[in-house]
Amino acid sequence: MSFDRIALEDKQKAFADLRDVKELFSSRGWFPGTSGNLSVRVGDYSPEQFQFAITASGKDKTVHTPEDYLFVDQDGKPCETTRLKPSAETLIHCEIYRLTGAGAIFHIHSVYNSIVSEYFWDRKSVPVDGVELIKGLNIWEEEAHIDIPIVSNFAHIPSIIPEVTERLVSHIPGILLRKHGIYAWGANAFEAKRHIEAFEFLFEYVYRWELLNKGNR
Ligand SMILES: [Zn+2]
Repeated sequence: MSFDRIALEDKQKAFADLRDVKELFSSRGWFPGTSGNLSVRVGDYSPEQFQFAITASGKDKTVHTPEDYLFVDQDGKPCETTRLKPSAETLIHCEIYRLTGAGAIFHIHSVYNSIVSEYFWDRKSVPVDGVELIKGLNIWEEEAHIDIPIVSNFAHIPSIIPEVTERLVSHIPGILLRKHGIYAWGANAFEAKRHIEAFEFLFEYVYRWELLNKGNR
């Protein structure tokens, strides 16, 4: 589907969803130093062709301006004339959409997600055992055990992509970048938000649990 054939109201809805999530996450301090990025997909999807709205690079996410978002295609190229640059990490969104067909992807940096990604780097995943909030990821087994994948972090974003391709797990709607942050996704903005909240709860849980048990060893 070409970008021109996507209904205006669908494009406006994507911007409105991003605005709501941006406001909420920023009130939680989840965008320190203009970091983090958010995207919502619009129109029809195939792994080879899709479009999404994404936060522009380097903007203060605590305020709303006419320069906050733009639309890009499956290669991260702007869909229409704009002076805005998509977020530097747009290519990671492109790859996650290509692999999952998700409807929204949110990325934040937090102290907890950064610390656990380094603490468990040797095993390349963060283990979580039987914590209730695993259900927030739509995993309903009793006493579920999950391993949240961690990939390398490079300043050169294209170098991160092959590990995302290789390590993304279909039943875990998130992936950590080492000492960097979490990408979480869902069928729509509502679900992606639920997932990122569940992940952040689990990271804080794991961090505190490890700290508590260290003192007892
Ligand atoms: Zn980032």
